[in-house]
Amino acid sequence: MLDPFLAEARALDAADPLAGFRDDFVITDPDTVYLDGNSLGRLPKATRETLRQAVDAWGGDLIDGWHAWLPVGREAGDVLAGVLGAEPGEVVLSDSTSVNLYKLAVAALDARPGRDVIVTDDDNFPTDRYILEGIAAARGLEVRRVGADIDEGLRTEDVEAALDDRVALVCLSHVAYRSGALADLPAVTAAAHRHGALVLWDLCHSAGAVEIGLTAADADLAVGCTYKYLNGGPGAPAFLYVRRDLQDVLVQPIRGWFGQTDQFAMGPDYRPPPTIDRFLVGTPPMLSGLAALEGARITARAGIGPVAAKARTLTDYALRLADAWLTPLGFRVATPRDPARRGSHLSLHHPAAWQLCQALKAERVVPDHRPPERLRLGFAPLYTRHTDLHTGLTRLRDIAATDRHLTFPIIPQGLT
Ligand SMILES: *Cc1c(COP(=O)(O)O)cnc(C)c1O
Repeated sequence: MLDPFLAEARALDAADPLAGFRDDFVITDPDTVYLDGNSLGRLPKATRETLRQAVDAWGGDLIDGWHAWLPVGREAGDVLAGVLGAEPGEVVLSDSTSVNLYKLAVAALDARPGRDVIVTDDDNFPTDRYILEGIAAARGLEVRRVGADIDEGLRTEDVEAALDDRVALVCLSHVAYRSGALADLPAVTAAAHRHGALVLWDLCHSAGAVEIGLTAADADLAVGCTYKYLNGGPGAPAFLYVRRDLQDVLVQPIRGWFGQTDQFAMGPDYRPPPTIDRFLVGTPPMLSGLAALEGARITARAGIGPVAAKARTLTDYALRLADAWLTPLGFRVATPRDPARRGSHLSLHHPAAWQLCQALKAERVVPDHRPPERLRLGFAPLYTRHTDLHTGLTRLRDIAATDRHLTFPIIPQGLT
């Protein structure tokens, strides 16, 4: 008899309006189930072609190539604006997420003189915590850490309770990197605004996975990477968002020549333009910038509404498999159950999570491991099928049921 879960997966795939997008990606081993698109997305076929042409253009056009390359950061930003629910001219590619976080956090703090507190949560992504701590140490500010549940995420009430008129900046991740818990971006933004603070959102695990609605929420500032759900490629430049009316108010701390008015006049003084360009710094990486543009285009073409809807179907399906097959084997779901409170990945707690990750990889399922003791399974909606989740979780169940993972090392080492 056909496993009813498999029949359901096939039916869901057959009805999936985004099913055709899988063909837009390079898939060299069809038997591998890739559940780590939220660490590094797959290679779009269009990107491979674009990069070939860009390398040729470098070889042939040399310095003249810049005429075509210079606008790419803004062009990709306008495409991403559609994906993030922002307006054209409010998003641009630049630097890395870490560096953008630094630039926008400092710019926000400078716009709130006399206030000396940064609010974040104690379970925020490491780079965010380190950068905020560094800024606070350099300026004698206080970092106020809101307690977040590592499985259930951040409660808006707890953020609100940390707000007062000393708070200059609230800086949080929209989707928590480990649990997949989704913060209430509109509610937190509104709460911070009531207290006169600016909010900086890290969208790394939500861009290309959920509907964000920056304009609808009156969001101030945001940063995020393009190499996860946006399929921009390893180390592709990040994006930053600054709401239009803040663009001529905020001044970022790294005063580079790409953030200068009339850059090639090589003028004596720094005079940033009243646009998103003032948040740029130096010469952008063009090969990976073109890759980020292609990646963004695919998500824009699919539409963030259908992408987010598929993320919900995938996570819901995986949760039901986990409940039926994995919970009896000692796994615990470490992601919120409410579909409105999660992104597009599922975290599973198991005391032998690291060994299970290695065993899965040996059986051609690519998960991620996140301490403490969690398997993180990412479901990139553009190329992940429900049948992939069925295959992947069947292999995980069979490994755990037969203890095949116990032959693998116990201590995590390096990247998974
Ligand atoms: C992946 C990720 C980053 C990555 O920052 P980089 O500067 O690109 O290394 C930052 N924040 C969050 C929440 C992430 O998930």
